[in-house]
Amino acid sequence: MGLVVQKYGGSSVADAEGIKRVAKRVVDAKRNGNQVVVVVSAMGDTTDELIDLAEQVSPIPAGREFDMLLTAGERISMALLAMAIKNLGHEAQSFTGSQAGVITDSVHNKARIIDVTPGRIRTSIDEGNIAIVAGFQGVSQEGKNITTLGRGGSDTTAVALAAALDAEVCEIYTDVDGVFTADPRVVKRAQKIDWISFEDMLELAASGSKVLLHRCVEYARRYNIPIHVRSSFSGLRGTWVSNEPQGDQKVEHAIISGVAHDISEAKVTVVGVPDKPGEAAAIFRAIANAEVNIDMVVQNVSAASTGLTDISFTLPKAEGRKAIDALERAKGSIGFESLRYDDQIAKISLVGAGMKTNPGVTAGFFEALSDAGVNIELISTSEIRISVVTRADDVNEAVRAVHTAFGLDSDSDEAVVYGGTGR
Ligand code: ASP
Ligand code: MG
Repeated sequence: MGLVVQKYGGSSVADAEGIKRVAKRVVDAKRNGNQVVVVVSAMGDTTDELIDLAEQVSPIPAGREFDMLLTAGERISMALLAMAIKNLGHEAQSFTGSQAGVITDSVHNKARIIDVTPGRIRTSIDEGNIAIVAGFQGVSQEGKNITTLGRGGSDTTAVALAAALDAEVCEIYTDVDGVFTADPRVVKRAQKIDWISFEDMLELAASGSKVLLHRCVEYARRYNIPIHVRSSFSGLRGTWVSNEPQGDQKVEHAIISGVAHDISEAKVTVVGVPDKPGEAAAIFRAIANAEVNIDMVVQNVSAASTGLTDISFTLPKAEGRKAIDALERAKGSIGFESLRYDDQIAKISLVGAGMKTNPGVTAGFFEALSDAGVNIELISTSEIRISVVTRADDVNEAVRAVHTAFGLDSDSDEAVVYGGTGR
């Protein structure tokens, strides 16, 4: 008898019908002879609605009470799902993250899991129950406060439980049929990937692909838990994410795994920076002290005539204000001329381990953008990724052009998006 962890996202449990559909799927897995642990997200856009509500009563909600509020969303779905399963004649018990033994650090709103002690879950499934666990939440080791893991954190809950329970697989059920070669909401001809390595999946997640969270993939790689991403609507076989392809898992795209895009970042340009040692250090120390995470950084040598250079970097839009304030405060000591802030940018990334050994990928990428009339503002690369920053307005066209240029368009079927408001 195998142990399966299944995770259902918000769009899969968006309403009573959805919950009943999920209950059937869970019961099927149980009937097939598995022990089943289910992790659920909040119904539909519940988390966003709770955030809206909090903002109406207090302009900067954060911390302990905010977490207490947000975890309510997942509790609603876990209880409803347990009821729906019982209605199908099977035993189910729901557990909060805390009851399930998800222990975190004390950083409210984006806590990290530091331990999982799933004793109660183990007992429950050994007694023959289906255990339902509220995703996205835990309890802090110090202080015993309720914490949340950051947006989309239910995936991480699922993988962490799968690792702690030594599950065979962590199935992530979502509103698309798997991981695609591009966002199927943008590229109709995107193809479902049959198998992808943890390595490429990590780069896609870091580059804006929203189907799996970076932290979740990182966790799965660390504990070597294969993830099967699939749709709760179609039940088709989805995408396997693991170290090595198993059995008949196909490795279709030898060079390029996919194209990801991200419109959640902004660009800061520090204009007129003296070209001498310590300047970049001072700029990024100021940013770091403000606890802002940066992404791409670009600097050129100074023009000989001025001895001044510009440094540009990208960061999440949500952190833009903090970064600008921090730099303004340090302006006197750093000695740059001015700051420019631009939140109308997009990042487009091409990912694939095959590019390490295949020349011409960078040239092909830039040619595709040029043919589409898209201007490149910043470039950065890793061994298995090339990213560019462009105007936000160009993003959809750019992604489609690159997808076509690298032969990733499917020649038959259109990618289906089954649900979700994309909020
Ligand atoms: N409900 C939370 C969110 O919307 C967690 C999740 O969906 O994974 O971010
Ligand atoms: Mg959600």
